[in-house]
Amino acid sequence: MKRSIPSFISERNVIIKEQGKTFGFIYPATYDIAMGGMTAITLGALVNSLSDWRFERFFLPWNPYIEPNSVEHEVPLSKMDILGFTSQFEPDYLVVGWILKKAGIPINNIKRRNSKSKYPPVIVGGPCSGANPFPLLDFVDGFFLGDAENSLSNLLKMIEEKGIEEFWKNPSEFNEIKGFWTPHSLESKEKSYSGLFSNKNFEDIAGSWYSRFNFTNLDTIPYPLKQTYCTLPDYHPYAPVKGETFQLEIGRGCSHGCRFCMIGSGMFNPARYRSLSRLLEIVEEGVKLTGVSKVDIFGMNLSDFPQLNELCWAVVNKGLEISIATLRPDMVNSELIQAIHKGGQTSLTIAPETGSDRLRHRLCKLINNEQILDATQIIFEAGTKILKDFFLIGLPTESEDDRNAIIDLVKKQNQIAQNSGVKEHLIRVDVNPMVPKWQTPLKNWVYNFLPENRPRLRDAVGHIYSQLNKMPDIRPKQVSVNEFLAQTWLTHLEEPINTLIESIPLESHTPISKNIGYYLHKYRDKLDTLLKNIWQDFRMSNWQVKHRIRATNITDRIFTRQYALVINK
Ligand code: SF4
Repeated sequence: MKRSIPSFISERNVIIKEQGKTFGFIYPATYDIAMGGMTAITLGALVNSLSDWRFERFFLPWNPYIEPNSVEHEVPLSKMDILGFTSQFEPDYLVVGWILKKAGIPINNIKRRNSKSKYPPVIVGGPCSGANPFPLLDFVDGFFLGDAENSLSNLLKMIEEKGIEEFWKNPSEFNEIKGFWTPHSLESKEKSYSGLFSNKNFEDIAGSWYSRFNFTNLDTIPYPLKQTYCTLPDYHPYAPVKGETFQLEIGRGCSHGCRFCMIGSGMFNPARYRSLSRLLEIVEEGVKLTGVSKVDIFGMNLSDFPQLNELCWAVVNKGLEISIATLRPDMVNSELIQAIHKGGQTSLTIAPETGSDRLRHRLCKLINNEQILDATQIIFEAGTKILKDFFLIGLPTESEDDRNAIIDLVKKQNQIAQNSGVKEHLIRVDVNPMVPKWQTPLKNWVYNFLPENRPRLRDAVGHIYSQLNKMPDIRPKQVSVNEFLAQTWLTHLEEPINTLIESIPLESHTPISKNIGYYLHKYRDKLDTLLKNIWQDFRMSNWQVKHRIRATNITDRIFTRQYALVINK
């Protein structure tokens, strides 16, 4: 047996429990990419804290000939008692499905349930499955809705008490757990696997979706202090991005309500923060127990944390290094950037989204170019070497002038960097097509991904890339529109994804996540018809935004009103 990561990777603080039922966590990516996040660290600490359970990690294997065995005990996926994964992006479903297939586990949940081989149930959490569960109804055995810690621990306790057999026999009983829902409870009604693009009605699940579970006080959740990290040096090609850091999550949810953003649409709201005193306590103990000298500060609503300056200074004054996630330009201030610099971070990321104030305000991102340029000034004057900008393209009402405004804004930022006298500065620019996500007012804005409009979208992306690429000190990222098209197709899928997973050959896994568009190619006509129908219905219904389920207290009427504000109707 081989584990799914190369033998030269060494880690600290891995918890290896010998006893207990097993919860296998599947990362839909190779080790270097996967270990950047906090989800597995949080869930691992929680599962291992339960006396009857232990946590095992599985990664997309590096080598197609290696079985996806666990890192902790090198056991196969099929030997786990229960499996889980998080859905950050829809293409992850295909990668997880491929890993299950590779391990000989049926991807159809009915087959797993009815099999005498006792396969583990597969549970999913995260934003994508919480926004649109339909592609997964025949694939997974349970959904976590909202913050997963409480629901996971209650689920594992209930399974421990009643046995997995009871989960398979009477799944509806488990719907009593707040923030958990199993699609097997639909079975007595009309659930049956009928292939791709059939029409089914799953209104029954709507109530469960709306009653998700979110903690009101994050200070009450136990925080993982002795965190696992990889000890490969940063320059090693297989080293995870975050390296030897202690991860500090300061909050969840966001109150800004940007109209393209699932986080802002309320699935994780209200916006909540840990208290400053609790965060400082966590840093104090965590750094000691983990044995690192760098703290990675992140959170969905990072910049809005009222004591962010104080927190960063307190961390650096302890002699620790800092790395920090994307900042909102209007919250950038000299005191904060100086703390970040003192903490050794010489690159920063902001997300202007567009170069046009008009468009940005329509998206409800209430910042303007002046604030972005002020933030740029502060960032470079403090000696920052690298600034990374995130932009979106393909927005409603976007004109050629708006797209050119991205180029102008980056040029102005570069001018500021040059004037600030920072030697060898660089501005990295990502201009990504906007994926119209479920549970947002722009859900039905599939216009740019319609077959007839894609060439225009590609030209627009290519034009910005070529213009920025000509300029010194600016490094635009080359973007594949197909990657975002694949995401859009999968975001809008209302039927089981199983057929798509089945079509991915076992032998050509490397790297699945990069080739999703290629694997979806043979379904292109059907997937395009799906987008055309969405657009047609949207137009015919006088631009009514309709979700098949409601995941927050925002109704379709409110989403429709917000869409109208975007297009100024
Ligand atoms: S500020 Fe960021 S996280 Fe919050 S709604 Fe806007 S894009 Fe989403």
